[in-house]
Amino acid sequence: MKTYDAVIAGGGLIGGAIAFELARAGLRVAVFDRQEPGREASWASAGIISPAPENQSMIPVVELGKASAKLYPRFIEQVEEASGLRTGYRPKGTIQALFASDAMEELATVVGLHRGLGLACEALDPEETREMEPSLSAEVRACALRPEEACVDNRLLTRAVLEAARRSGAEFFAGSGVEAIWEEGGRCRGVIARGEKIAAGSTVIAAGCFSGGIHGTEAYAPVRPARGQIVALRGAGVQIERVLWSERIYLVPRDDGRVIAGATIEYAGFEKALTAGGIHSVLDGAMELVPGLRGAELVESWCGLRPDSPDHLPILGPTDVEGLLMATGHFRSGILLAPLTARLMGEWVKNEAPSWDAERLSPLRFRNCSATSY
Ligand SMILES: Cc1cc2nc3c(=O)[nH]c(=O)nc-3n(C[C@H](O)[C@H](O)[C@H](O)COP(=O)(O)OP(=O)(O)OC[C@H]3O[C@@H](n4cnc5c(N)ncnc54)[C@H](O)[C@@H]3O)c2cc1C
Repeated sequence: MKTYDAVIAGGGLIGGAIAFELARAGLRVAVFDRQEPGREASWASAGIISPAPENQSMIPVVELGKASAKLYPRFIEQVEEASGLRTGYRPKGTIQALFASDAMEELATVVGLHRGLGLACEALDPEETREMEPSLSAEVRACALRPEEACVDNRLLTRAVLEAARRSGAEFFAGSGVEAIWEEGGRCRGVIARGEKIAAGSTVIAAGCFSGGIHGTEAYAPVRPARGQIVALRGAGVQIERVLWSERIYLVPRDDGRVIAGATIEYAGFEKALTAGGIHSVLDGAMELVPGLRGAELVESWCGLRPDSPDHLPILGPTDVEGLLMATGHFRSGILLAPLTARLMGEWVKNEAPSWDAERLSPLRFRNCSATSY
């Protein structure tokens, strides 16, 4: 029987980052994925690294996001060095554009709100904004700069993290879905994948929105998929340097000149279909923010399933079954939260005290809840 220090169910960015963290600490690690690793939400994402809340419900994630964003530069360095691959990390900030007739008042609120949460944010004058991002719409009435934010090419990052984990010694088993945890004698002894038992000291469930489908983890992973439709555009002389936000849409630059525009948030089960209405709303918002995109080539459209939890916060840490840990529910922030998640999971697996107070994220908070009951 194969035996590891840690076995991870799910080879997305979260499972990959945890594998990298554990493998470079010298642990024997195996990652099981039901398909080719890195092809779900972590592939479909936009790659924005922003702890700023998009709405009220995201305010509880801010402190966690700030802590993870701080780790990002070092995380990128380590991943690029260990993998020999680039990640398209762009620490160039975000511009938030306001269109409303009372935009100047709104700007003061936006700046105040961000600063109140300890996030850097400053009002830009129109002249400055045009110099920084010449393709922004002339209809924009006011702008705020969030200088400490960044973005990354999430597909490159995920590939690099998986390679970094592999080169550090983690073993990957693609096409080997985990069916159940292997529970015996009151503790989790590993996983069952393709009918075979794989023994491990620690078992980490990091299967994104599919985590609750692994038998034995249901009580800790009431996650449900939140579909996001998203497109890539190129050309028409449009070049943006940093992430642009409006109330309706975000635009994210890539090093190869593409602009990613996204994304819808829909609760449509596990159905991964693009819809006319979804793509229309994304394109409409994109062209409002940068009218030059009207002539851009639509190079790709896709969708992905974010792992949402009942309170929209990640589900991280040990359960009350010895040896079983959860790392799921990252919803709209899994790219942002990967470095801190990896660090915390590493600490728990190695029985070290967590370096960040993650009590509120405990998998035990959902014991009376299921994915269908919210
Ligand atoms: C359109 C869109 C835009 C987004 N934009 C951003 C953004 O700008 N910034 C940000 O921070 N976040 C963003 N997100 C969210 C982010 O992408 C996710 O939170 C993150 O990718 C979750 O990573 P994960 O590894 O947990 O899940 P996933 O990437 O979904 O990986 C889960 C893995 O588990 C595997 N798996 C499933 N079932 C099993 C099983 N039974 N056994 C073994 N393996 C299994 C899957 O095959 C997959 O490889 C976005 C998401 C979407 C969809």
